[in-house]
Amino acid sequence: MKNTNRRFFILQVVAGSSVLTAAHTIAQTTAPLVNEKDAQAAALGYVADTTKVDLKKYPKHAAEQKCSNCQLYAGKPKETGGPCPLFSGKQVAANGWCSAYVKKAG
Ligand code: SF4
Repeated sequence: MKNTNRRFFILQVVAGSSVLTAAHTIAQTTAPLVNEKDAQAAALGYVADTTKVDLKKYPKHAAEQKCSNCQLYAGKPKETGGPCPLFSGKQVAANGWCSAYVKKAG
């Protein structure tokens, strides 16, 4: 590969990555919130407000457990919602909870 071809290829990769990052950011900020009544949400006992968890059904739930301190939560601090890999294309509430909760390390 010639130097100019290599340079052009690298520029294309960098430009493509920037576009993908921008698109991902837009998708994250515009993704709709998970509806508690969606099949996946209902199956996992997801609620948008951790204080509304059915304690008869989920007796191990603790008040301090919420999406924002879950290992799977990918939202930014101080935002009211963010992505969770269990709900692709949607956002979970930072104050939400589901039965797949795993305490964030650290
Ligand atoms: S896995 Fe974690 S971040 Fe995702 S919905 Fe359940 S509690 Fe929230």
